[in-house]
Amino acid sequence: MIQTVLAKISPEEFGVCSAHEHLSIDLSRIKKDPDTILDDEQGMIEELEDFYRLGGRSMVEVTNDGMGRDVLRLKRLSEATGVHLVTCTGFYKDPFIPEFAHGWRAEQFASHFIKEATEGIGDTGILPGVIGEVGTSHNEIKPIERELLIGAALAGKATGLPVTTHTTLGTLGYEQVQLLTEYGLPVDQIIIGHQDLNANKDEVLAVLETGAYIAFDTIGKVNYRPDEERVEFLLDFIKLGFEKQILLSADLTRKSHWKKHGGPGYGLVLENFIPKMKEASISQDMLDQFLIINPSRAFSIRER
Ligand SMILES: [Zn+2]
Repeated sequence: MIQTVLAKISPEEFGVCSAHEHLSIDLSRIKKDPDTILDDEQGMIEELEDFYRLGGRSMVEVTNDGMGRDVLRLKRLSEATGVHLVTCTGFYKDPFIPEFAHGWRAEQFASHFIKEATEGIGDTGILPGVIGEVGTSHNEIKPIERELLIGAALAGKATGLPVTTHTTLGTLGYEQVQLLTEYGLPVDQIIIGHQDLNANKDEVLAVLETGAYIAFDTIGKVNYRPDEERVEFLLDFIKLGFEKQILLSADLTRKSHWKKHGGPGYGLVLENFIPKMKEASISQDMLDQFLIINPSRAFSIRER
């Protein structure tokens, strides 16, 4: 079963999924840029309606506590639009971890995540469907991030929730898998994020070879990397037989990413990237694998 903000649903109901997104977010405390505040609820509804029109049915919203998580808003959005929304427990990375958790050790992170996963987030009664996005810095795992990741592994092991990560520019994906599995998290319960930002193919392949899922979740962010390179990597991974481990998304975090502000909007994988994959002769069956089958498995809560 998959835990959405409204209910537990069967994997077959999940449909076309964006695996790593942010609808309601505020990173301005650290980024000092008002563009990184998404708080226009009507605008979110319009974006989700557009996503639905393009065939999108589910979205994993990985804005956690410290990034501006608002689960009651997600519930309202899901009710208004019919899009399945999955919310998270977890913290992001240094310096986005909220003050009350500074200095926490792995066990404290784990018990906090387990509490939210079993009793609900605050007094909302809403349960998270994933632990994330938990992350590391650029080519560096800071001590607090190490504790955070271990805490996520312990909580994932205890609750059966999948763990989805942030890597900074795609770095240290393999090291994240090693750390999470060392603390008992099954490898198929791990989703390593932002792997399309790593141009070092061997490093991404090393993650795939562990059996973990990878997320190509910054599609359309061509300031980092042209989408053509993303397609090229996908073709290689398909050729090597890793197609069951790949998830897609766009990771929008800014007002300027929204259609009404001149950006591509949350439908961009469906509207802009699918045609590029088709042009590269990636079949419809393969697209269904990436967008429907893989997420329905990756976000299913493991039986305990
Ligand atoms: Zn993100």
